[in-house]
Amino acid sequence: MSGIEDHLRALKNAERMLEFDARLCTVLAITGLPRRQVEELFGRGIGRPGRSPSSIDWFHTAKLAERVEASLFAAQYWRNRNNGFQTLESMIDAYQRYLKCIGNDPLISFDRAVNLVCNIEGWIWGVGPRSLDIAVCRRCNAQHLIAVGDSTQAENCVFCKLVARYATDRRLQTRFPPRFLPDMRCPTAATTGQGTQVEAGAGVENPQKLAPFHVDRQPF
Ligand SMILES: [Zn+2]
Repeated sequence: MSGIEDHLRALKNAERMLEFDARLCTVLAITGLPRRQVEELFGRGIGRPGRSPSSIDWFHTAKLAERVEASLFAAQYWRNRNNGFQTLESMIDAYQRYLKCIGNDPLISFDRAVNLVCNIEGWIWGVGPRSLDIAVCRRCNAQHLIAVGDSTQAENCVFCKLVARYATDRRLQTRFPPRFLPDMRCPTAATTGQGTQVEAGAGVENPQKLAPFHVDRQPF
């Protein structure tokens, strides 16, 4: 690929990231474009103010809703990577699909999504070794984020926790508006945003038979 094509691709990626309200410093670090050129093209003061997250501590102390949304993004990102797409295009596509799923009030900013990717991959965009992994829940089969080497992952599936708390937690109900399942013949099954099934007998209480995500059944 020629230098001109590389440059045009970097500009296009910058434009897409700025549409996601990315911080300018994040865009510059990822694309390698000069600040002056980005500001000339997209306007001075473009991008969210402030500094990008420098550590992943926010994820480990995040509330359940944030961790659910982080896993929604990360699962789609990982799916793109396993389908052979590059890091950056996988990330941009996954964030777009995450917004489509969640709406225009995301708990995971684009800068935090970048931070997640850095910690899933390791040694990219100025971040050190990887500290996050993608696990598959043995109970509900959903992909979710865990700390690297976490031996307690079987008990830490955020989607199982979400379903378990959903019926009694108004904040979760507000964040993830309910809808009744079309097929009520399966009285204890719920569909997550990843299109997975939470099965009866899995120790997950969902007496109102509600699906925790207001999304289509299509996985993203
Ligand atoms: Zn689970």
